[in-house]
Amino acid sequence: MKILVVNAGSSSLKYQLIDMDTEDVLARGVCERIGEAGSRIIHKLPDGRKYTEEVELPDHTAAFKKVTDVMLHGDYAVLKDLSDIAAVGHRIVQGAERFSESVLVTEEVVNTISEIAPLAPLHNVAHVQAIRACQAVLDKSVPQVVVFDTSFHATMPPKAFLFGVPYEYYKKYHVRRYGFHGTSHRYVSAKCAEVMGRDIKDLKLITCHLGNGCSITAVDGGKSVDTSMGFTPLDGFIMGTRSGGVDPSAVTYIMEKEGFSPKEMDLVLNKKSGYYGLSGGISDHRDLCAAADNGDEMAELARQIQVYQIKKFIGGYATVLGRVDGIVFTGGIGENSHWIRENICENMGILGISIDKEKNRHISGSECEITGADSKVAVWVIATDEELTIARDTKEICERAGLL
Ligand code: ADP
Repeated sequence: MKILVVNAGSSSLKYQLIDMDTEDVLARGVCERIGEAGSRIIHKLPDGRKYTEEVELPDHTAAFKKVTDVMLHGDYAVLKDLSDIAAVGHRIVQGAERFSESVLVTEEVVNTISEIAPLAPLHNVAHVQAIRACQAVLDKSVPQVVVFDTSFHATMPPKAFLFGVPYEYYKKYHVRRYGFHGTSHRYVSAKCAEVMGRDIKDLKLITCHLGNGCSITAVDGGKSVDTSMGFTPLDGFIMGTRSGGVDPSAVTYIMEKEGFSPKEMDLVLNKKSGYYGLSGGISDHRDLCAAADNGDEMAELARQIQVYQIKKFIGGYATVLGRVDGIVFTGGIGENSHWIRENICENMGILGISIDKEKNRHISGSECEITGADSKVAVWVIATDEELTIARDTKEICERAGLL
């Protein structure tokens, strides 16, 4: 049985076709610059072959049609018939308080995703467009499931999710911490319990998803009890181009000084801050480390600031959990940068955390333990797989509903 996983952005549509009998990825790709000049599809096969075509993609339906064309016809085909797609799973950024778990797509569900779009305007609108695109191109009987970045964090208590602003803004505008990357935190925490040979219900874990976007979650007995991202994926600590947490009055002060509108300030905080803003234009962790190693002081400072802020989150979450059994590193940086793992775990004896530096430098496989000999806390590097998690949810929900 084949399930297609779709992750749509405002001008992009990423996809993965997964064979659920083996959980192998049959094809993956992306349509870029949808609705803009220079739009194209990049389609990759597991053997490393890659097909790129510049093609006009005026909207998500045209993009999705192109994806199915490439999957069905020509040298890069992976499907005999469109009906081989048994179901579609969509990644949805914001589920707000309306969705605490993945659900089957119905008209009511689509309407609710649209209703909460003001909380994530760019994302949720694109997700609805992608759902409509699938409905337009595939047979109406093909079930679709939506999997939310926020739903894993629905278990956070009010003391973790409320901000100290007038309560009426929570009631009127739903302003609160939602948390994101939930699918990743859910996957790696479950995987960590599995590789530790323990029941997740007995474990207290801190999961660090470090990629272009970064977040840390305190997971108690398999449930998120606190997380670093907030109302939007901007809060927490510095990321590639995002500021992380900033004193709110510094934000209003900068707006006044620079004459920025809320939209302009939003752009600065989301796209011009973090590594990028501090280093003067470097947003990629590898490039930042290369510059720092070559003596660029601001690049060095940017990576030190991030490490410092991450340590504070880990320390804070250790007190929230009362005990830490394991720390997990995941995401492009967490999985690949031995520098970040070594520096975060340096001087963490107070929490009983240490790593084996040799193992940390030579990790292999998708789950690798780097716990130090004297460490009281297990430290793991686990490759996240959000698409597989979405595909598994899709299969399970469709089977439960008798649709597969
Ligand atoms: P996204 O949040 O967009 O999904 P990723 O999880 O792919 O991003 O993470 C991208 C980040 O991972 C970039 O900063 C990149 O430099 C970093 N990264 C990827 N590979 C490596 C590597 N081998 N060593 C260090 N950093 C890496």
